[in-house]
Amino acid sequence: MKCKFCNKEAEVTIRYPRMHLCENHFKEYCENRVKNVIDKHRLIEKDEKLLVAVSGGKDSLVLAYILNKLGYEFEGLHIDLGIEDYSEMCKKSSKKIFSEIGLPLHIVKIKKLLGRGIGEVKTRRPVCSYCGLTKRYIMNKFAYDNGFTAVATGHNLDDESAFVFSNILHWNIDYLSKQGPLLEAEDKFVKKIKPLYELRDKEISLYASFAKIEHVTKKCKYARGATSIKYKKFLDILEKDNPGIKLNFIRGFLRNRKIFKKKDFELRECEICRMPSQGKRCAFCRFWRLKEPLMFQ
Ligand SMILES: [Zn+2]
Ligand SMILES: [Zn+2]
Repeated sequence: MKCKFCNKEAEVTIRYPRMHLCENHFKEYCENRVKNVIDKHRLIEKDEKLLVAVSGGKDSLVLAYILNKLGYEFEGLHIDLGIEDYSEMCKKSSKKIFSEIGLPLHIVKIKKLLGRGIGEVKTRRPVCSYCGLTKRYIMNKFAYDNGFTAVATGHNLDDESAFVFSNILHWNIDYLSKQGPLLEAEDKFVKKIKPLYELRDKEISLYASFAKIEHVTKKCKYARGATSIKYKKFLDILEKDNPGIKLNFIRGFLRNRKIFKKKDFELRECEICRMPSQGKRCAFCRFWRLKEPLMFQ
């Protein structure tokens, strides 16, 4: 089989839109996909001060790599979760890619900052749940404190379609109203963008191997059994018989998103950290029992 765009032997078959591609044209296809999402949804404005959050996994590292290739300027943020060897590996791969692309990477260590790592807190709350809360808060506060105007994350088509699907199943109207590749800035919440919104999990893995991007493939030990995995598997079954169903589902969702009305919370300031909060103290300061606002040195 020949590549759709050149005479080389095809290495990859994409099922939707159906085409056979050589290694170089496959990489170009992925980069164009990212560029199209950025342009179509106007994710990155001129003079944007962009922070790219990297975990050490394939998605965020491919994101940093492609954004750099497309000529965007940015800085990276890696949050060291303090989960033994796993976090060490994640930090190593994040550092490696940033030294290769020659852009600055900030590292925030949870254990140093909060006294305990993820998984070391005595609580009834599931680890993934407070890990998510902690990461989201730190990403936003770090960006806000340092004057960044946007935070990019590596969420991909499989993550996003599974997330929207599960929220429709549970009719979480408020979540649905806020989902998409772009979440505008509001109050002290910095703009959030997801440039890999239309790239599949498998495409990103393949891109990472073609571009020789070293990344952590091991799953975090706390992520096993996460419910999102079930929804992903279910959508994979559908996608197998109906190539393109995820992409069409997510695009249709974006076209119709306005039917989900946003709940208007009255936001006030957390009395500890002064970030937006629904109660007297924000969920982050409450969970970590902070008495002083979190400061990055
Ligand atoms: Zn080709
Ligand atoms: Zn707070």
